[in-house]
Amino acid sequence: MDCLFCKIIEGEIPSQCLYEDDKVYVFKDIDPQAPVHFLVIPKKHIDSLDAMEDEDSELIGYVFKKIRDLAREEGLEDGYRVVHNIGEDGGQSVKHMHFHVLGGRSLQWPPG
Ligand code: IMP
Repeated sequence: MDCLFCKIIEGEIPSQCLYEDDKVYVFKDIDPQAPVHFLVIPKKHIDSLDAMEDEDSELIGYVFKKIRDLAREEGLEDGYRVVHNIGEDGGQSVKHMHFHVLGGRSLQWPPG
């Protein structure tokens, strides 16, 4: 499968890794939109939440637990935003499930 984020997980494409275990990979976004901007992805290739199977529920719960842990470790105690873009209208450019974690400044709402 020709997937950019699978290649990052495999180390074929370099990344600034913040955390890794057997289920998730966490790395800095190459084009940060906030002082802190990292991506949390499951190692299992799933296109997006829209493509998840019932059996993926536990894995995705684990991904969210890691988001909480990493946000604390990155000093986002004043708050942060978790974004998951899905499909063309959602603005998804990489078809491997990823959760943006953004913080370190006051974020505006609504997004564009
Ligand atoms: P999406 O638009 O929600 O699919 O987000 C994809 C994100 O991946 C964007 O924020 C990109 O900046 C980021 N990105 C693309 N290529 C790389 C890379 O090689 N390393 C780290 N982040 C990347």
